[in-house]
Amino acid sequence: MFVGKTAIITGGSRGIGAACAVKLAEQGADIAILAAHMSEKAGETAGIIEKMGRKVKVYVCDVSDFSQVSKTVETVINDFSHIDILVNSAGITKDKLIIQMTDEEIDSVIDTNLKGCMYVTKACIRSFMRQKNGRIVNIASVVGLMGNAGQANYAASKAGVIGFTKSIAKEYASKGITCNAVAPGFICTDMTGALSGDQIEAIKKNIPCGRFGQAGEVAELVAFLAGDNSTYITGEVIKIDGGMYI
Ligand code: NAP
Repeated sequence: MFVGKTAIITGGSRGIGAACAVKLAEQGADIAILAAHMSEKAGETAGIIEKMGRKVKVYVCDVSDFSQVSKTVETVINDFSHIDILVNSAGITKDKLIIQMTDEEIDSVIDTNLKGCMYVTKACIRSFMRQKNGRIVNIASVVGLMGNAGQANYAASKAGVIGFTKSIAKEYASKGITCNAVAPGFICTDMTGALSGDQIEAIKKNIPCGRFGQAGEVAELVAFLAGDNSTYITGEVIKIDGGMYI
């Protein structure tokens, strides 16, 4: 499906981003991983992809800094000669009630989750336009649709990602570029790893499927939206949450 294509995956070192990187590589894509650190996990993910015989490189790039983003995307295009798919998965949480939330906790979550998604998309779009082809998949969250007590900064960033996704879909559909979002519920990654056993049991009660999702399940949906069987889908937000939103 993706042979000869290059995918940029922000947050591709671990969690959902890593699962997307591995899934797209399994189907033939070469992979540029953008991560905040050159970590052991980034190396492990790259190692898995390398073993498949795909080209893979890890780039340290803070997505909340536009000058780093634009330089990194330029380097990726030089290294891989073209880019075809962008998955915006880099994200953080800094949970607190709004009354206790510091400016830094508001700014860093908005800067990474929302502005990061906007910056990397902006840096890639000219290349997609030249090719008259491109696939953008943004990892939003059901929290961006529902809100969540204790996550006002995060929910606002993900609601922003959803508005951004729809706007980019409208701006670039005529250029052969699709832009969609997936909205996961609770997925087993480092991000949800800090929850206590009691918190997990309470959350599970609100999930009709009765369990957290796996990153690989999100990656399947991302691969569909990044592939050739979804050419007439753009501006959509697809929930993948075990029924939690119903
Ligand atoms: P994760 O396991 O904590 O991984 C976060 C990823 O983002 C890492 O690759 C990290 O890089 C990268 N990152 C963080 N800040 C960055 C920055 N400033 N610049 C570049 N990269 C940065 O998280 P996850 O659970 O896979 O989440 C992935 C996405 O899915 C996020 O956007 C998250 O909001 C969304 N999501 C997650 C869930 C869930 O339940 N897990 C649910 C809904 C939505 P390093 O490894 O270098 O730190």
